[in-house]
Amino acid sequence: MRILVIEDEKKVASFIKRGLEEENFSVDTAYDGVQGQYLAEINDYDLVILDLMLPGKDGLEVCRELRQKETKPLILMLTAKDTVEDRIKGLNIGADDYLVKPFIFEELLARIRAILRRGKPIVSLRLEVGDLVMDPVKHQVTRGGKEIHLTSKEYALLEYLMRHPGDVLTRTKLSEHVWDNDFDTFTNIIDVYINYLRNKIDRGFDKKLIHTVRGVGYMIKA
Ligand code: CA
Repeated sequence: MRILVIEDEKKVASFIKRGLEEENFSVDTAYDGVQGQYLAEINDYDLVILDLMLPGKDGLEVCRELRQKETKPLILMLTAKDTVEDRIKGLNIGADDYLVKPFIFEELLARIRAILRRGKPIVSLRLEVGDLVMDPVKHQVTRGGKEIHLTSKEYALLEYLMRHPGDVLTRTKLSEHVWDNDFDTFTNIIDVYINYLRNKIDRGFDKKLIHTVRGVGYMIKA
């Protein structure tokens, strides 16, 4: 899952980025509203964490404009102003949730998980494809009950695949949701990581879960 953090306090932005990367999210940061909105327009984020008071263009305005976007990223607003009016304004304009600064990272993470879940008709947090099971809270992956150890990038790639079972995912889509802005389009890094995943997930099993869709991309299905 790919997240954009728009926050002008660099210390807060890097604290959020670091914490989320430890949770296997891909994170880009922007320090003002104009740059943030630009990144949100050229990239396909699953979630935007948006500060309310921003130089250039304020959070409410960015939120309003992101709502017009076809892909409609989920939006979590951050603000230091804990007033009822601000909350109502933010939610009316289309933010999916609201968090008042200062906050502890665990609360931010819990809100993010709740928002991402609301976007999908999934009751359980557990992701399952056949006998492959991912528990995003424990960061645990098992196949046939046996634990599989993945690197952070392998995990992020598998999570994205498992959130879209049966969908053909192009390399572009995978790069946009699993890698951050430093991704180099001219490498075959996605194919390399798919191979790593196959070695860990499918090798030794008769039923392969990761499928190549020739000329298009990849798909996971039971
Ligand atoms: Ca601010």
